[in-house]
Amino acid sequence: MKRKEFLQTGLRLGILTGIVGGSIFLVRRNQIDYSCTAEGTCKSCSLYRRCDLDQAKETRANER
Ligand code: SF4
Repeated sequence: MKRKEFLQTGLRLGILTGIVGGSIFLVRRNQIDYSCTAEGTCKSCSLYRRCDLDQAKETRANER
């Protein structure tokens, strides 16, 4: 392998690693733990507006 090919391959692998690592970081950063630990207090919960659990949906529906 010539030096130029070696550098090009290394650069491509570095870019690929950066893209994959960045994607994993972004996906993990936006993960939300929807396990409910505050039973019956949806309105005061920080996840209330974006929570997908049935309890939160019912509470939002009853608000209207
Ligand atoms: S919004 Fe309600 S159901 Fe969702 S996590 Fe909070 S307390 Fe639990």
